[in-house]
Amino acid sequence: MKLLGKTQLVPGEASAPVGKRPAPDSRAWLEIDLQALKHNAMLLQRYLPERCSLIAVVKANAYGHGDIAVAKTLGDFSIRSFAVATLEEGVRLRKHKTEGEILILGYTNPDDIDLLLRYRLTQIIVDPDYAKALNKAGKKLKVHLKIDTGMHRLGVDATQIPDIERIFACENLVIEGIVSHLCSSDRLTKADISFTKQQIVRFFKIVELVKAKRDIKSHLQSSYGILNYPDISCDFARAGIALYGVLSNNNETLTKLDLHPVLALKARIATVRKISPGESVSYGRAYTANGEVSIAVVTAGYADGIPRNFSEGSAYVLVRAQRARVIGRICMDQFIIDVTGIKDVRTNDIVTIIGKDGSERIRCEDFAEQCKTITNEILCRLGNRLNHQYFQVSG
Ligand SMILES: *Cc1c(COP(=O)(O)O)cnc(C)c1O
Repeated sequence: MKLLGKTQLVPGEASAPVGKRPAPDSRAWLEIDLQALKHNAMLLQRYLPERCSLIAVVKANAYGHGDIAVAKTLGDFSIRSFAVATLEEGVRLRKHKTEGEILILGYTNPDDIDLLLRYRLTQIIVDPDYAKALNKAGKKLKVHLKIDTGMHRLGVDATQIPDIERIFACENLVIEGIVSHLCSSDRLTKADISFTKQQIVRFFKIVELVKAKRDIKSHLQSSYGILNYPDISCDFARAGIALYGVLSNNNETLTKLDLHPVLALKARIATVRKISPGESVSYGRAYTANGEVSIAVVTAGYADGIPRNFSEGSAYVLVRAQRARVIGRICMDQFIIDVTGIKDVRTNDIVTIIGKDGSERIRCEDFAEQCKTITNEILCRLGNRLNHQYFQVSG
């Protein structure tokens, strides 16, 4: 009855003795290479102009990698600025002893200003009315002012200089940074380059205007801004996806850095069996065997963050360092692969869904492309049900 003991719910589980809980790699898990994370941070920091520092973007649980472990590793490695998307993400980091600046890139309800102050968080100003609302609270608050240079998401319109001046006149806003965001820096078509250059010109016009009067920090680039527009000279650059060693997609970039993927996604084989010609597999009978096929059931599904459309077309995973095709629909907790021709496949074997096995590797970019999305979405949706295993050694 060992299995039953392992999965039983233990009252007050947090203090349950070791051995009463499954090992992190029992079913489906992430392997996080903290050495690779440090390598990427160093590479990016070295690549930036000398007086430009990295802001580590650790929103959405550090793109699924685990915000606390990532922030701690980077903090120990002299990163002093972090960015998150929400108030709760910022509070969580502070409660876990993250030092330095924590910038909230998204909207925070002005009613929560006391939390911003208590946890020493820096808030982005999203528009003129928002600046007014925060100022009205009557408490000195550190903020960065966002300028809309063409994305039309957050920020004060770059052409509305009087609006910008009014915000600088707010006596309770301690404006330490001026910020914008490039919306097409990952694409190198002529039209995209021309649009991005226009955004850059609009941004620097405001930066120069403000810097003539006061000391303020500027930042504009995210990962693709760093790689495709390396000549921009700001005080900070906000790196998210590149820090995790992958890019959003397989598009070419002007600069190619030797980034190391930080994350691997693995699961196990639950059972192996044979099916005969004409028999189908999984929901909707989307796959039918042509001949005799050995199939294996993998212990991860869309509840773990593997998109349901991963199975369409030519998806594969790695088993015993060989490729095994995904067949039939992805289920909530499991999916099925064809292991015909792979020798000695057994229950409990490890399946690599993203990552390396022997000389084979499934890149996160290719996995995302297979799912018709970008790596950012794949990574930040990797489910809470996955365990994290952290490694310091790069392999
Ligand atoms: C998420 C985010 C980033 C990081 O983007 P990457 O492409 O992952 O580097 C930078 N700036 C803002 C405003 C963001 O929301």
